[in-house]
Amino acid sequence: MPRQAYVNGRYCPHNEAAVHIEDRGYQFSDGVYEVVPVAKGVMVDEDPHLDRLERSLRELRIDMPMSRAALKLVSRELMRRNALTNGIVYMQVTRGVAPRDHKFPKAATPALVLTTRQMKPPSAQKLAEGVRVITVPDIRWKRCDIKSISLLPNILAKQKAVEVDCYEAWMVDAEDRVTEGTSTNAWIVTEDNELVTRDVSNLILSGITRMRLLKLAEQAGVTFTERSFTLEEARKAREAFITSSTNFVMPVTRIDEVPVGNGHAGLVTCKLRESYEGFVGESKVSA
Ligand code: PLP
Repeated sequence: MPRQAYVNGRYCPHNEAAVHIEDRGYQFSDGVYEVVPVAKGVMVDEDPHLDRLERSLRELRIDMPMSRAALKLVSRELMRRNALTNGIVYMQVTRGVAPRDHKFPKAATPALVLTTRQMKPPSAQKLAEGVRVITVPDIRWKRCDIKSISLLPNILAKQKAVEVDCYEAWMVDAEDRVTEGTSTNAWIVTEDNELVTRDVSNLILSGITRMRLLKLAEQAGVTFTERSFTLEEARKAREAFITSSTNFVMPVTRIDEVPVGNGHAGLVTCKLRESYEGFVGESKVSA
């Protein structure tokens, strides 16, 4: 069967899937999305992802396009049709189709698109080498807690990183404190061995991987602090890494050309990656 997508009530071939030209997502970025990791055919942390989707929608006053239970069924069916084992389910909800006008339409039905993507885990060599990041000013709006499909600053920053052979860009606020990556949360182990990631606020996306990793760190007896950290602290850090649904825990071994620690993936980072992989491996289908 060719790869399938789900668009507003229909499963269809991925390369034929389309939405209307007056979908408000297309015209205004008036919508939100979720990326749920899938491991061995099971959606990882599905409910926390759906909680965040519902929250993002609430903040924008868009209705859920269907019940949570129905969304779970549609996700499972799409995964089945695409024989998805490891990768992601992408979900996007927009305010729907209406004549172009900034104000909310009186009657629009939220539009739902689902796709899946098969992904390979990174090689052991890649994990040992880690990735390089650059830093850029954070020019985003003040509601980064909403997982909005409006991602221009993130795209521009990521492109800048790729053009200098880096994997990710860490965005830095006006006080020289790292907010997060373009599609990842940022972490360091400081000179004094403190595991730090920025506290959740309107200035970052509350990553589901971040949240899970904090719980796993606690269970493993790894102490941590949720606080902002400066670029200077990051450059002096012993270890650094990023987290996200597609990267899990990925070591960062260079920040703006400066090697982090000894320039290789750090011990705490590797331990946390192992914990997270263990958690993913044990994930069960939720009700
Ligand atoms: N921060 C931003 C800006 C993101 O776009 C993402 C994921 O897309 C994350 C953090 C990580 O979130 P999660 O762990 O839920 O994938």
